[in-house]
Amino acid sequence: MADGRPELAGRTVLVCGARFAGQAAARALLARGARVVLADRDRPAGTDDLVAAGARFAGALATLPPDTELVVTSPGFAPSHPLFTDAAARGVEVIGELEFAWRLRGMDAAGAADAAGAAPWLVVTGTNGKTTTVRMLEAMLRAAGLRALAVGNVGVSIIDAVTEPRPYDVLAVEASSYQLHWSSTIRPAAGALLNLAPDHLDWHGSMAAYENAKAAVWNGAVAIGNADDPRVAALLPAGAIGFTLGVPADGQLGVVDGRLVSRAFGDHGLRLVGADEVRPPGPHNAANALAAAALARAYGVAAAPIAEGLRSFVPDPHRNQTVLARHGVTWVDDSKATNPHAARASLSTYARVVWVAGGQLKGVDVSDLVAEIAPRLAGAVLLGEDRALVAAALARHAPEIPVITVDSTDDGAMTEVVHAAAGLARPGDTVLLAPAAASYDMFTSYAARGDAFAAAARGLQGLQG
Ligand code: ADP
Repeated sequence: MADGRPELAGRTVLVCGARFAGQAAARALLARGARVVLADRDRPAGTDDLVAAGARFAGALATLPPDTELVVTSPGFAPSHPLFTDAAARGVEVIGELEFAWRLRGMDAAGAADAAGAAPWLVVTGTNGKTTTVRMLEAMLRAAGLRALAVGNVGVSIIDAVTEPRPYDVLAVEASSYQLHWSSTIRPAAGALLNLAPDHLDWHGSMAAYENAKAAVWNGAVAIGNADDPRVAALLPAGAIGFTLGVPADGQLGVVDGRLVSRAFGDHGLRLVGADEVRPPGPHNAANALAAAALARAYGVAAAPIAEGLRSFVPDPHRNQTVLARHGVTWVDDSKATNPHAARASLSTYARVVWVAGGQLKGVDVSDLVAEIAPRLAGAVLLGEDRALVAAALARHAPEIPVITVDSTDDGAMTEVVHAAAGLARPGDTVLLAPAAASYDMFTSYAARGDAFAAAARGLQGLQG
């Protein structure tokens, strides 16, 4: 596959990770005649079907099976894994699923080029906002009458999207830093970098390695980046298209008199849509909308479908989702704010906030976040494993703010949290679940945490007073 063409028949390929995407990779490899070895310390559901189809399941591995000629890996395997040290020592190429999908696109199962299937990619990456942005972009592309699909972390696996006989004109691709780390030949029609904040540093090893991985989104024809984010702006290549929440310079998209406008791609102040029409609310989502609009303009989509796509956009749950309005207090579920960078964006959307926070901070410090958002806080209710760390930051940077810590971690904890928050909130306030932390200490996922919050909040409706 050195020249990017998938010559796979008869070759031994190791697939690291036997879940959703690993299974899609294994199926595509088997269909092309490869000898597939699956490595995973668990044996996930679906493994048996692949074994029945000819794959060999090897369990946990520390060295490559003999004759391995290619490794396709899932994000669950960090680059420091001994398998990759072994692969490097033996000169065996390692690629991620995104790179594998790129090499498969436009090839039918017999390996023949199938130009009709080779839909171009518009790629989005960044620390936060990726899913929202690819979904906004998908809505714009569809409003333009294009057969478009958002892929990556959402819905269909990208390997299935490029190999199944379903014709797409264009794909809106969400790319994580993990996927970009293991990619080399992907050339998007346009690629956007939304923002950069420390995240997943344990996986990448350093901020420089993380930034370097993300910058691969610009290897294609058009580079797009957030001009308001100092880390992104410092990396943006010459000739790139910037987007800003301020007034755009030539070659940028931005905001003029409350409207999103384009001054790039030959546009002279092309008006797109009112910033207040963007859903979910908040400046961070206006920035996501500008990034999506830039990608759509790069692909030649006109202003009307861009506006129509944004107006018809239905946000995914748990992203600044209003779940209840009661007694002048708005209850908002942003459970997806799983790191401080996301929580900062979320909190700056609302004027006075009772903040529901805590969970697993993953070693990230919340002091700067707390210091910055302290003026907006009407109170805070803390839960989860690292609640004491958030409490300490509040005591230091916002000592006058009332803080209630919920120590219970059982099923009733969220009800306690919600009752505490209701006690702190005054009419006009927003009670915001934006935990700045992962959920796995108490919940199966961020979605389960958001659902518990919404259910407990709605439970207030039955109460008097
Ligand atoms: P991702 O796919 O990158 O995790 P999502 O679109 O699912 O991103 O949004 C995750 C969370 O990140 C949201 O709930 C919100 O709190 C926050 N967020 C969304 N967009 C941005 C942005 N542009 N900048 C900072 N935070 C953001």
